[in-house]
Amino acid sequence: MATLLIHGGAGRIREDRRAAYEAGLAAALDAGFAALEAGGDATDAVTAAVRRMEDDPHAFNAGTGSAPTSAGTVECDAAVMRSDGAAGAVACVAHVRNPVTLARRILEESNHVLLVGPGAEAWEPAPVANETLLTDAARADLERWRARGGDPEASATCGAVALDDAGRLAAATSTGGVLGQHPGRVGDAPIPGAGTWADERVAVSCTGKGEAFLTTAAGRALACDLAADVPPDDAVRARLAAVRAAGGEGGLIALQRDGTVVHGFDTPQMAFAWRRDGPDGREEACAVGQDGAVVVRP
Ligand code: ASP
Repeated sequence: MATLLIHGGAGRIREDRRAAYEAGLAAALDAGFAALEAGGDATDAVTAAVRRMEDDPHAFNAGTGSAPTSAGTVECDAAVMRSDGAAGAVACVAHVRNPVTLARRILEESNHVLLVGPGAEAWEPAPVANETLLTDAARADLERWRARGGDPEASATCGAVALDDAGRLAAATSTGGVLGQHPGRVGDAPIPGAGTWADERVAVSCTGKGEAFLTTAAGRALACDLAADVPPDDAVRARLAAVRAAGGEGGLIALQRDGTVVHGFDTPQMAFAWRRDGPDGREEACAVGQDGAVVVRP
């Protein structure tokens, strides 16, 4: 039952950017599912989908178009994790067009799980200038944030979870972090067990205020609840409540080994899409969700 579920971030998605998000989600879903149809595995699918979102300059806070730091620079985090427990991640990379691809390289070619900054960038075969990742829209967002003041803002991180025909699961998450973050800040996305998780039963990718997802170990905690047979909707609500109690908000997507699709959020919007080829044919959905509902599709 080949399945791919992606998200383009939980937060506040401006109405004038909705069309760009929907187009970007559809393109990423096609790219990831094409990898599965070409015989690729779940890791190929999540990497291809997230890479497409990183390359989209009109939507998504990842790769090109990432939310800048308070210093006006781009610093990205990403992780890839497989159901066999292998993980690779990078954080604070400033010269990498596709952090998810670099995270996968760390998984497959290094003896480490997480590399940061220049040490991670040493593994990048084609470094780019930091300015090439900074779009005019992201610069304008930073100016608006500076004028308004306040805390750094979570926005439009992207992620994917996939199940291939062999029953393998994978998860990937990529982000520019939060708008106006202190340089050097690392969120939940590259931390296995926080913003990204995969095991034999479930793959998870989170989005929202990273500090709260980190301190509640959201991805791993969700997996533990599901392993204890907590119903998926209750398990998601419990994670979102824990995140909220820790001072955050956000959303997550999860895909179970039996193909059950789960997504939920408690922010004003969350962008998500999924496609599943099952015994009853193809099912799919693509939306900028408004209602904050927790959805379970067995
Ligand atoms: N979770 C990401 C971070 O804290 C931000 C987001 O999802 O918008 O870095």
